[in-house]
Parts: sequence; C-alpha cells; structure tokens
Amino acid sequence: MGEGASSLFPNYGRYALSFVKGEGSRLWDENGKEYLDLMCGLAVTNLGHAPKQVTERLKEQVDTLWHTSNLFHIPNQEKLAKLLTDNSCGDAVFFCNSGAEANEAAIKLARRYFQKIVGKPDQYEIITFHQSFHGRTLATLTATGQDKVKEGFAPLPEGFVYAPYNDAEALEKMIGPKTCAIMIEMVQGEGGVIPAEPAFIQKVAELCEQRGLLLIVDEIQTGVGRTGKMFAYENFGIEPDIFTLAKGLGSGMPIGAMLGKEKLRQAFSAGSHGSTFGGNYLSTAAGIATMETMLEEKLPQRAEELGGYIVSSLKNKLAGNPLVKEIRGLGMLIGIECTQPVADLITVIQEQAVLVVSAGPNVIRLAPSLVISKEDIDRGLDVICAVLSKQAAAAV
Ligand SMILES: *Cc1c(COP(=O)(O)O)cnc(C)c1O
Repeated sequence: MGEGASSLFPNYGRYALSFVKGEGSRLWDENGKEYLDLMCGLAVTNLGHAPKQVTERLKEQVDTLWHTSNLFHIPNQEKLAKLLTDNSCGDAVFFCNSGAEANEAAIKLARRYFQKIVGKPDQYEIITFHQSFHGRTLATLTATGQDKVKEGFAPLPEGFVYAPYNDAEALEKMIGPKTCAIMIEMVQGEGGVIPAEPAFIQKVAELCEQRGLLLIVDEIQTGVGRTGKMFAYENFGIEPDIFTLAKGLGSGMPIGAMLGKEKLRQAFSAGSHGSTFGGNYLSTAAGIATMETMLEEKLPQRAEELGGYIVSSLKNKLAGNPLVKEIRGLGMLIGIECTQPVADLITVIQEQAVLVVSAGPNVIRLAPSLVISKEDIDRGLDVICAVLSKQAAAAV
C-alpha cells in the first residue's frame, strides 16, 4: 500500500513486508516466502508463533467467556497471579494491557505508597537512566532517558531525573530528599542491548535499602525467560520491590503486569487504580499457558544455554570483522554493536529471509524464540555473519 493510500496515522516506520502465517520460528509473507524469525515481534513470541500449548488454551477460553469486568472475581487472573508470585519475589499483582501501562502502574504505586503509607508526600521523584526505555504514555515517556521520544509532547509530568547507567557514584549523588524510587532495566533493550554490570546492580539495591527507596525493575523486555532466568533480576541476586512485565507474558496476546512486595499491597486500595480490559479471561489464559510452558519445559535454562552458544558462535564467526565493535547480551537477548548505522544491513538480512531488529542506531538485536532449534540458529547466524562480512569487504 503506497503512502497516502493508508487510513492509519504514520507513526510507525514500516518495512515493505507483511506476514500471513506463523509457526514456531517461521513466518510466511503473502507470496508464500518463508522467513526465519530471530526477533519474535520484539521479544514477545518467546514460545514461537502460534504455540500449541497457548492456542489450545485460548480456543477453549474463546468458546467459554471473554470478558466480565474487574467488578467481579476473575479466576484466571488469580491463577496467573499465583503462578507469577510463586515464581518470583513479588507478592501482589496488577494486570493491564501493555508495558507502558505496567510501568505507569509502578510509578503510581511508588508515589501512592509514599503519600498514603509512608506519609511523605514530598518524596515523589523517581531516578531513571540515560538510554532507558519505559514506554509511550506521558509519564513513561518522561521516565524514558531518551529525548527523541519526548519531542513535541510538552508539558511533561514532573518528578523524574536521569542518572548515567552503570555508574554507581553518579547515581548516589543524585539521590535527594525528594527521591522515592529508582527505576531500571537489567538489560537496556531499546537503548542498545546494554546489560547492567553486576556490581552496579548490587550497589543500586544497596542504596535503595539504605535510603529507604523503592527499587523498580522494568522487566517488560527481559522478563519471562528471555535472559536465562524467569526474570532478569535473578541474574543479579537482588529482589526488586516492584517489577513490570508485558512483552513475553502472553506470547503475543496483549497483557501487562505489575508486581509488588507485600508492604506495597495496601497502597492500591479499592478504586485507586484500574483497567477495563486488564487481566481479562483471554489475555490471562494466554499468560497462564505461557508461564506453565516456560516452567514445564525449563525454557529460561534453555535461553541461558542457547544464548551462550549464540554469543560464542557470533564471536567466532565475526572475529576480526572491522565493522563489529562488540557482541553482548544476557541469555537470548543479544546485541551486535557495529561501527556504523545498521538499518541498511538489517534490510539486506531481511532480503535473505532472516528477521532481526535494531536497538538504537548501531546495534543489531537478536531475540529468537526460546524454543528455536540449533539448526535454525546456525542458519540464521550464517546469514547475518555473511552480510556483515560482505559489507566489511565492500568498505575497504
Ligand atoms: C517495550 C517496552 C516498554 C513498553 O511496552 P509497550 O507494551 O510497548 O507499552 C517498556 N519498557 C521496556 C523495557 C520495553 O522494552
């Protein structure tokens, strides 16, 4: 469809590609051409496309009941909440429909806890980090440490300040009498696949403990098995007070979740926050099936092993390539940082029927499904590395 012919707002830059069917790590376009998916709709379809365990549960639910209202008890919500709290440090769950909404809920909970429970209404400021990404609502784009998402949207809500990532000394200096929380990603996804340094995260947790601040971990991209643990904070031996999920939680059904520790539960009293669709029968059915499959098939562990294999393969295959600056990641969230913008390279890789996505201008991001076969991985990496080699040869 040519520009001008579309009835949509042009707020997405889209590739000239569209898919009609998906199965596992494969997608087919309208001409029947098959693609290998190494991005999973941006770390969403962690069980592959149309995973049987989820589609079966969804079909059953579609035939039974879709929606009542959060004015009534929703057994699926209780069940998914229990699955999440039994397998994490969280004690209470709020369900919504997206990542931004989950972070919005986290921001509201942190403020309300200080105002209603702690009794310190002047303590409302949240420290976030440069290059972070937390969403597109007014509060979450303000929390985001990148100017490009804020352009043209002033006035922005108050109460956010930004610290350099992986710099504990600078962070400590920014904590003041108004600070109520630190909000952080364990791997900055949109910012360029930048994993946090373990010592830095230790220090962040320690500072929160010492100064009585809430630690909010944004697990929207990293959560649900992606980084080699069910939740990325487990890689660092810390426990957040609040953490947020969305992308991988419903295998593609829209769902978000915000989890908090017991002391925060009463800060969200009846009527203080809500969502019409949040945690409805369909999205929570997908969430339950996704979590059960993750646990039964030990997919976080698989992500750890296969992620290690991908990084070491890439390091072997790309050794000496002058275009490649660094290969890094955590589990199966992996970045290839190049010395030049990667948009054109990604298009060339796409033309060879492999789907990857950028993370910032210079990083090729890989987020394959956690059930992808090793053969598919090898084939995909061969294509990517051949494109990078060819480009490097052309540059000399
Ligand atoms: C994708 C993402 C969000 C926003 O999620 P939406 O569902 O698009 O609102 C927030 N934080 C992180 C870390 C993300 O990767």
